Parts: sequence; structure tokens; C-alpha cells
Amino acid sequence: MIIKNVAFIGGDKRQLFAAETFANAGFNVYLAGFDKIKNYGDLMLADISSALGKADIAVLPVTGIKGNVIPSVFSDKELKLSEDTIDILKSKPVFMGKADTLKNFCKNIEVFDILEREDFAVANALPTAEGAVQVAMENYEGLISGSKCLVIGYGRIGKILSRMLNALNADVTVSARKPWHLAYICSDGNKAVCTGDIQSLAGYDIVFNTIPKLIIDKKVLENSNSDTLIIDLASLPGGVDFDSAKKLNINTIHALALPGKCAPAAAGKIIFDTILTILKEEYRWQRQI
Ligand code: NAP
Repeated sequence: MIIKNVAFIGGDKRQLFAAETFANAGFNVYLAGFDKIKNYGDLMLADISSALGKADIAVLPVTGIKGNVIPSVFSDKELKLSEDTIDILKSKPVFMGKADTLKNFCKNIEVFDILEREDFAVANALPTAEGAVQVAMENYEGLISGSKCLVIGYGRIGKILSRMLNALNADVTVSARKPWHLAYICSDGNKAVCTGDIQSLAGYDIVFNTIPKLIIDKKVLENSNSDTLIIDLASLPGGVDFDSAKKLNINTIHALALPGKCAPAAAGKIIFDTILTILKEEYRWQRQI
């Protein structure tokens, strides 16, 4: 398979950085839905049909599409998939996130959902953890160093974030449900607690939740203090009873899409790497150097 031409259709800053990474790697990159950008460098602006027509592969937003509308923060014009553009998409691999809407829209498109890949999720955990520390620094009035932090969950983000907070000299407690995770947490030099035993957040300065389940419920919040800052990283609807937190005057932040907001260049490079890995796996594609 020869891949020289890549179309980026809509998206946000990380999509733009991913497009630049492709261009820097020697690909011809066509952008549709980026007309508000002033400087395109090596990228070529096109309308959606000609961008897709020229492309060997198409990249749609990591955030997915809404019906037939492709979100594009760099355009005031609505970017839409028409029957004609869908027909062009049928002849080439498409890379995006939250691909179900497109798959339901048209069954005959070869779509790869990069959000479902472990390599993408693991790589993305690093900018998410850094972004979480940034949110904490912006919203906590003390120092991270010496602060009492609780990280709920020891998955991809929980592992990296808890080690990062430890490196910043915070007093870190981490929760998990698996006994061997509790052992790993201790071997990281942090304190371990069973997630199911969390009844209160009192005594913690900053709490980071990474579990996509309602863990910080009304009861936990009622046993907590209003001087604890809660940063929920879990995807919607999150792991915090936000209504109860508001009533109890507890400061909560649902910090979502951190890689794109805090480290868009790194997030773009992760999109680039993931697409190249899929091309190698699925098409035995080799980069010509
Ligand atoms: P992950 O690796 O799957 O980790 C999830 C953690 O939650 C694991 O420790 C898991 O425990 C625990 N867990 C899940 N269900 C549980 C339950 N019912 N009771 C107790 N523990 C439970 O996920 P991740 O990659 O770290 O991502 C965490 C969340 O952040 C997800 O919602 C993800 O979509 C979101 N996310 C947010 C951002 C952002 O910018 N805020 C960026 C990327 C991802 P086990 O290991 O025991 O299963």
C-alpha cells in the first residue's frame, strides 16, 4: 500500500499538530475545516471533497462526529459529510475516535477507532497526568510539595499520576481494588488504600479521581471537608456527585480532554504514532525513508 497523501477533516488543536507531524514526516497533508488558521506551513487547505479525493487515508476528529457534522474548532463554517463524501470515504481507511456514529451511518467504511487502542490510551495517560498536575497547581493555593494527595484508581492514569506526585514530593495515597495493585502502590513509595474503604476525603488537600464510576458519592462528600480540592479525570459522567459537592461547597473540577488542552503537540504526535502503528499492523505498510 502506498501512502503519500493524508486528509485531515476537522478537529481541534491536537488534530492540527498531528497533521503537522505527518507533513514533517514527508507526507502531503490536505486540511478541510481549518480555514481560520493563519499560517499553514507545508499543509494544504482544501474543501472536504477534494481533500478526501486526493487522500490515501483520512483522519477525522478524535472526538468523533455528531450525526453527519464533523466538529471543527478552526472553522466557522459547518463541516458536513454528504452522500458524495461518504462515497469517497468508502475507498480508503479512516482514522478517528468514537467511531460508532460513522459506523452506524455507513457500514461499508473501513474505520479504525484510535481511542479503543491500548497503545493510544497508555501514551495518552502521560499528558493526562501532566495536565492533572497543571490543573492542581492552578487551583490549589498551596504547594504540591508536601500536600496530602489521594489518587483514586491505579489504572493507566492513576499509576503515572501517583508516581509524578511522589516525584514532586507530595504525600501520596493511592486507591485500588486488586491486592497486587496495593502492593505495587507501596513499592512505588506511596500509601495504599482499598477503593471500597474510602468513606471520607477529610485530611486530603487534593483528590484526583480516575475511576469512571460514582466513587465520590453524597455520603463520602458529607463526611469530607470543604477545603479539599477534588479533580475528577474520569470521562463523562465522571466519578463525583457534582450536585452534592456544590451544595456542600466542596470545590470540584471535572478536568476533561487534558491532553488536547495541556499538551496538544504531544497529543498530536500520539495520534500520528497510533495511525502509523495501525497501518503497519493492518496493511504491512512500511515507511519509505
Ligand atoms: P484504566 O486504565 O482503565 O483505569 C481505570 C481504573 O478504574 C482502574 O484502576 C480500575 O481498576 C478502576 N475501576 C474501574 N471500575 C471500577 C469499579 N467499579 N470499582 C473500583 N475501581 C474501578 O483507565 P485510564 O486510562 O486510567 O482512564 C481513567 C479514566 O480517565 C477513564 O474514564 C478515561 O476515559 C478517562 N480519561 C480522561 C482524560 C482526561 O483528559 N481527563 C484523558 C484520558 C482518559 P482495575 O484495574 O482493578 O480494573
